[in-house]
Amino acid sequence: MIPEIDVRTLTAKKSYEGALAFSFAPDPELLAIPFTRFEGEVHAELFYRIFEDNGVEVTGTIAFTLAGECSRCLEEAQAAVTGTVEGYFLPGESDGENYGYRFGKVDLSELMRDSVMFALPARLLCDACKQWEKE
Ligand SMILES: [Zn+2]
Repeated sequence: MIPEIDVRTLTAKKSYEGALAFSFAPDPELLAIPFTRFEGEVHAELFYRIFEDNGVEVTGTIAFTLAGECSRCLEEAQAAVTGTVEGYFLPGESDGENYGYRFGKVDLSELMRDSVMFALPARLLCDACKQWEKE
């Protein structure tokens, strides 16, 4: 499950930064490479910081495994993928550059979705083809 950051409660407790570690099931529709699938969940390790204007910075990393047909030889292949997470949330609506949040709570779903999308490789290669491409 993707947790929320309860900005209102945290600021009331004068707790302005913290770490979050969690796993979630990614949306298979994010996959643009044919015949691939997410193997298991996405693991996220995040750090957040709440600023005076209630802006919330979220940074960290995600890791997941892709499995499916090698884009080159069609053999079964797997790849460990890691990506970075970087988002800034402001109270109110998203302004295109920053994410928005409402009711004092940051919903990380959209940031997680974007982070997975940016981390996805253009194709999936098996070990033999990776080796072949290097030579
Ligand atoms: Zn291959």
